[in-house]
Parts: sequence; C-alpha cells; structure tokens
Amino acid sequence: MIIAGPCSVENEAQILATAHALAQIPEVKMLRGGIWKPRTRPEAFEGRGEEGLKWLCEAKRQTGLPIATEVATPGHVKLALKYKVDALWIGARTVVNPFSVQQLADALQGTDIPVFIKNPVSPDLNLWIGAFERFQKAGLTRLSAVHRGFSYYKESPYRNFPMWEIPIELTQHLNVPLITDVSHICGNRELLQVTAQKALDLATDGLMIECHINPAEALTDAQQQITPEALKELLSHLTFRSKQAGGVEGELAGLRGEIDDIDAELLQLLARRMEVSSRIGEYKKQNNVAVVQMDRWKQILSDHIAVGGSLGLDQELINVVFEAIHQASICRQSAILDDDKNQ
Ligand code: PEP
Ligand code: MN
Repeated sequence: MIIAGPCSVENEAQILATAHALAQIPEVKMLRGGIWKPRTRPEAFEGRGEEGLKWLCEAKRQTGLPIATEVATPGHVKLALKYKVDALWIGARTVVNPFSVQQLADALQGTDIPVFIKNPVSPDLNLWIGAFERFQKAGLTRLSAVHRGFSYYKESPYRNFPMWEIPIELTQHLNVPLITDVSHICGNRELLQVTAQKALDLATDGLMIECHINPAEALTDAQQQITPEALKELLSHLTFRSKQAGGVEGELAGLRGEIDDIDAELLQLLARRMEVSSRIGEYKKQNNVAVVQMDRWKQILSDHIAVGGSLGLDQELINVVFEAIHQASICRQSAILDDDKNQ
C-alpha cells in the first residue's frame, strides 16, 4: 500500500498534475494532500483550506484515486466529511494533545471512515496507544498507525529519528496496520530509498511518501518531496517482503530452532548470574557494603564493550543488555538489604 501526494495542496494545477502522474504508478493506492498545515512559525504557508479540498476532490474525480488529508480540529473533520474525503490522518503534533484527539474522536463518532494515526512527536508509546483508544471508544474500527519518526535532541541524519522499536512495540499491543511515512522520517530525498527498504524489511504494511510535481518549488517540505517519476524509480528498487514466514519446514525452521536453543541457554546463564548476585547481596549485608559499586560497574561495562567489539557486537547492544542486567542485580541486592531492615 503506497500513499503518495504532496505535503500540501497548493493550487489546482499542482495537485491535478501530481495526481495524474501518480495514477500511472500501479502501487500507488491513495493520494495524500495537506489542506490545513500545522506550521512551526505563524508566517509560514498554512494550507489552502476548503478551496484546496475542492481541488483534491477534483483530482480524485479525474484519476479515481481515493484521497486523504490531515484533520486537526472538529471544523476540519466537518469539512472533510462534507467533501467525502476517503481517509483522514491525525498529525504528529495533534496526537500529543489528548484534548485535541478526544475532540476529533467525538467529531467522528457515528462514522467509520479510515483514520491514520501518526505517532506523537515525542517517543511516547502510551500517548500513541491512547489516541487509538479514544477513536476505538468512539466506535471507529478502520484505524492504522503511521510511523513518522520522533523529535530527537541529538544530531542525526534524520529529520525525525526513526526509533524503529516503538512502532514495532505498538503493533505488539494493537492489531492495526502500520504505514511508514519515510518522508517525514528522512526530511531529505537522499535517505528515502534505504529508509523505505528498512521499513519493508521490518514488515511495514505500507509507505507514505510525499510527491510533488515540482519539489523545488514546493511551499512546504521542499527538501523531502520527490517527483512521481522519482517515486517510480524508488519503488522499482525496493524488495517487497512477505509478512508470512511461509511453511515451518526447511531452512528457516532450522535457524529458528537454533535461536530457541541459544535463548534457552541465555536464560539459564541469566538465572545463574542472578543467583551469584544474590550471594554477593548476602555478603554485602553481612559486611555493611553498599549495593552500588560504581567504579567496579564502569570497569565491567568497558571490559564487556571491548570483548563484545572483538566479537562483532554493537556497543549499543552491550550497553542496553548489561545495563538491564545490572539494574536487575541492584534490585535483587537492595531487596536483600531491605529484608534486613524489616526484620
Ligand atoms: C504531513 O504529513 O504533511 C505532516 C504534517 O506530518 P506530521 O504530522 O507527521 O509532521
Ligand atoms: Mn510534510
């Protein structure tokens, strides 16, 4: 499922030309176009409003492509429903605000229009899940998630850092299709191809890609939009993956068996490690030694990172795994010392 179209509907000629070119690409199943644009600064182009909606409808009439637009207020919802827009999306800046999400859910009660819910700008899984719950409670059943990346305080090649684990975790909580908005993740054209492939490798259900007939002249997000021609090229280089792993016979089943065995070993080792940690806890209790010994811990972690590196393991992986193990150890030992106080 590819949803493509301009960041903003700017004028009738722009949306019609873009739509006609996109309609020639069989994978494109829906035309997107922003009518009301949430902008960081008030002087920026804020969308054409109702007039733009008429042009978007005309593009649908001429090409047959279903249309989608962003709604952020009940007033937007009213107009989008009046013009029979086929699907709506809730923007990342709106999803952060439960009052706004509730107002939108209330405004849509009694309809069952497809709604794409973007992740909130902040990496807050519960806030994203909460937005789904508000629409579900209002009776909407055709909900999908759109992963568009997250604001990030460190320097990064992305406009919005992907944090792929968050959308994956979302789909473990909610049984909804996941679309990856690679344009807003990347913020540039150069990273689109690899990011789209990465999304497909992680079993996304579709892509949202901003396309403009003349990206250089776009009034919003000019750096990240591509021409329909470039979209065609990009799609032709993607490998689409099957979501199903296929039969349980054969090579994949064998490899999965190996993983299961290794995981079982890891669990045994973890249990043994915790057991030794408990004995250290007992020792610390008897000898009045503090649980956290930061110097020793820093030494262990840097040794593990060095050894892990020589085994081809990522530093981040070692950090995350051993920090979690260390935290569990501290909890176990604190409980042992606490026991002492309670007696
Ligand atoms: C958009 O899709 O044009 C948009 C504004 O997206 P987001 O809410 O993800 O920033
Ligand atoms: Mn945009």
